[in-house]
Amino acid sequence: MTGTAPRHPKYPHLLQPLQVAGMTMPNRSIMGSMHMGLEEKKGGFSKLARFYAERAEGGAGLIVTGGISPNRAGKLAPHGATLMRSSQAAQHREVTDAVHASGGRIALQILHGGRYSYHPFCVAPSKGKAPISKFSPWVLSGRGVERTIRAYVRCALLAREAGYDGVEVMGSEGYLINQFLVRRTNHRTDEWGGAFQNRVRFPEEIVARIREACGPDFAIMYRLSMLDLVEEGNGWGEVVEQAQVIEAAGADIINTGIGWHEARIPTIAAMVPRAGFAWVTKKLMGQVGLPLVTTNRINMPEVAEQVLADGCADLVSMARPWLADGDIIAKAVEGREAEINTCIACNQACLDRTFKGKVAGCVVNPRAGRETEFAKESDSKLEGRYAVVGGGPAGMSTALELAKRGAEVDLFEAREGLGGQFLLARQIPGKEEFAETLRYYQHELDRFGVKVYLETRFDVDRFTAAKASDQPYAAVAWCAGVRPRIPNIPGADLPHAVPYDAVLRGEVEVGKRVAMIGAGGIGFDVADFLSHAHGEETIEGFRKSWGIDGDLETDGGLEAPDRPSPERELYLLQRKEGKPGKGLGKTTGWIHRLTLRFRGVKSIPGVTYKAIEPTGLRIEVGGKEQFLEVDSVVFCSGQLSNNEPVGALKSAGADVKVIGGAKEAYGIDAERAIREGFEWARSL
Ligand code: NAP
Ligand code: SF4
Repeated sequence: MTGTAPRHPKYPHLLQPLQVAGMTMPNRSIMGSMHMGLEEKKGGFSKLARFYAERAEGGAGLIVTGGISPNRAGKLAPHGATLMRSSQAAQHREVTDAVHASGGRIALQILHGGRYSYHPFCVAPSKGKAPISKFSPWVLSGRGVERTIRAYVRCALLAREAGYDGVEVMGSEGYLINQFLVRRTNHRTDEWGGAFQNRVRFPEEIVARIREACGPDFAIMYRLSMLDLVEEGNGWGEVVEQAQVIEAAGADIINTGIGWHEARIPTIAAMVPRAGFAWVTKKLMGQVGLPLVTTNRINMPEVAEQVLADGCADLVSMARPWLADGDIIAKAVEGREAEINTCIACNQACLDRTFKGKVAGCVVNPRAGRETEFAKESDSKLEGRYAVVGGGPAGMSTALELAKRGAEVDLFEAREGLGGQFLLARQIPGKEEFAETLRYYQHELDRFGVKVYLETRFDVDRFTAAKASDQPYAAVAWCAGVRPRIPNIPGADLPHAVPYDAVLRGEVEVGKRVAMIGAGGIGFDVADFLSHAHGEETIEGFRKSWGIDGDLETDGGLEAPDRPSPERELYLLQRKEGKPGKGLGKTTGWIHRLTLRFRGVKSIPGVTYKAIEPTGLRIEVGGKEQFLEVDSVVFCSGQLSNNEPVGALKSAGADVKVIGGAKEAYGIDAERAIREGFEWARSL
């Protein structure tokens, strides 16, 4: 299992080679499976080929593709990708050839959705709709089970024909195989149900027959649900037994799966502590002879190294971190960690888009999934001097891209530090990773020679002075961001009525009873900030507050949550009728809503604001007036663009480009701000 290459001084475990079936992995990093949404798009294979080839060049030990279904019933969506015919395998050649030409290795993930397949022809071991689907599955007959196993084998053979180095058999996250494994979804009375030996037979047959059909050199990784996090999930004894059965059936590696998609416990979102589930894989170490892979919220090389050094696993799988930075391992090898663009686990441009049937991207890396549209570095040089106004996400992204193209860039920030909204976001529990994005930009702006002027407002005088000099500005990128909207409510000027940014910056203290006016993303963030109990950010604290059994003695790994009583009385208000937080992220909104519910935050929709008074807030709901006795009122009521000087600059002859929140405050977020800056700087 252990290679003979000399050990890297800083990453002795992570950068250790490993021989698996017919391939030699140069290190212990796996780029985990992510459905990019390109799989089904016209011309998508060429885009995927470039996307994966860059990650192979960037040091991925092994790449795993997004899930591909072995038959029609298993498709995740009506137009989901399948691999059932040689003509389809031929299309995959473009991907495998590109990865191999870049010195990489790639495995195809075989994923059958079972009752998670979002179409009316979905199948399952037994009756019963998934709580996250509207489709009732057809129950597989005994012959149907046999046909499905044969489809897995056919898919693996076609993957080999397409040039893949192996397959990952997806046995976790609540998909078909997982549905066979647990009592929750398997009520069969034939040889595929009942005792665990029967329930495990489905993956056992799949792995054994793939091995037999594809031969010893073809790698088989099996993703095993080590912690189902649902009621009537497997107990730890069944997890160990499954691993041993899978080893005996001929798999080469076992990967870790944590939580079903229907589980109501976060497993990869930002509030999960880094490497927050590596302890589960560790428990399986030594129970089988195969190398084990651990995963979930491992987002930097030093985290990966620590997990391996602690004996939690033999390999690590990172998925989203490879979207954020396709060179993550190459940068570690070369000691350039400060240049790593770190995944902040927001899910916003990757999973949230995937679940809406869109092509995945990345908030912090606007090139992700668009590698054929934008070269890695622009080869056309940009001359001249540019002013970028505002050191938030839009300004930093614009300035960096201009500087990378060779322009001389002056970046002006009115506050004492760069970061803008990032400085606020990183105060929110679970959003601490924004500090990494800030670190990345600060380092890169410095590396590419951007001149940063802090506590400096850019104005017409400065522009005019430059214009009169021998170094005029070719253009001004106006990225001055947003400021909180203060609604027109009587009493809004009272001292205990404050904007959200002042609260997050620690400029004002709020009392024990607080009303938040506005229940959008920021209202939820402020409520989280004000109700967070110290300690929940540790792995132990996270487990306790979400009810995860750290001893793994219960089925599915669930136990009663242990949450501290809330210290504040909070009200989250909005004028709209309907559920607050509806517009939050598709894959994370439920976590925020649940968190605030656990903490006793009272949501009130359909509010008319009457007045802010010295002792509270007067509102009307459903035609009835109410008085909320609160010590503080926090405005989370949207934002306004900071763009006042733009007209004067234009009149003075400046070529001004307005970017990000300064252009359009409504719905502004880091994704749009960073992307707009990047795209404009590339368009020049
Ligand atoms: P938002 O989501 O548009 O929410 C603004 C809130 O203020 C709404 O609840 C709105 O509800 C209320 N409001 C608007 N005008 C008002 C007025 N004149 N008087 C009283 N209430 C008013 O915007 P945001 O919360 O400022 O967030 C900005 C952006 O940041 C979002 O678009 C989001 O993309 C991003 N963000 C997301 C998250 C997240 O998903 N976790 C977190 C932070 C920020 P009513 O009009 O019904 O009263
Ligand atoms: Fe990570 Fe967010 Fe990018 Fe997804 S969008 S890869 S979670 S930084």
